[in-house]
Amino acid sequence: MATIFTAWQGVQERIAKAAAASQRQSSSISLLAVSKTFPSDAIRSLYSCGQRAFGENYVQELIDKHAALSDCNEIIWHFIGPLQSNKTRSVAELADWVHSVDRLKIAERLSAQRPEHLADLNVCIQVNVSGEASKSGVAPDECMALATKICQLPRIKLRGLMCIPESTQDLTQLAKQFTLLRNLQNQLITAGMDTDTLSMGMSGDLETAISEGSTLVRVGTALFGARSYPDNSSLL
Ligand SMILES: *Cc1c(COP(=O)(O)O)cnc(C)c1O
Repeated sequence: MATIFTAWQGVQERIAKAAAASQRQSSSISLLAVSKTFPSDAIRSLYSCGQRAFGENYVQELIDKHAALSDCNEIIWHFIGPLQSNKTRSVAELADWVHSVDRLKIAERLSAQRPEHLADLNVCIQVNVSGEASKSGVAPDECMALATKICQLPRIKLRGLMCIPESTQDLTQLAKQFTLLRNLQNQLITAGMDTDTLSMGMSGDLETAISEGSTLVRVGTALFGARSYPDNSSLL
């Protein structure tokens, strides 16, 4: 508990420092705690520190943890992993946000399956900013067309864009990929889509992402420690 609280404070300090370095308010950047592969108790500990937004990559983990933590009723659940169309229903029913929409079919299913008694599902389009063949995400030049169609769907609300850049130590290269996402979002805003979210930055690169305009960083390792079993983020 002491450890996770310290880690949480440390990440918040990193966010505050990076924000200050870019003359931004740290309150304009939200922290999503990526709890994939960690047990519900780890989420419970961080929840009691005050963290409310948690991100999961696997539909089954979302289902299990949502049930196990039903008493923590202020949790905001974000689904950030690859989503197959036969698994959209649970996500439409349990999540508050989905960051990984990269094709119309997924958006249409989430829209159709979002229960009417719930608030609109917040969605981000995942963009493949590195152009790596192994990465999911829509190609940058297809982003506008997809966004336009998503905005016409009921019960889901387009909030912005998400990316996972190339894994590289080259900060110039990283910054370029984050800038690409920001420029794409500016195009959406210019076209009249009122989006407010740039989901970019993880444990290793959140400072660069914040200097390029991130409004939401997705942090796992720096909060919970190294993941002890393999995850699929390298395939995203
Ligand atoms: C796992 C994952 C993260 C968190 O990565 P860390 O390097 O552990 O902070 C962020 N975003 C996505 C989409 C992920 O899959």
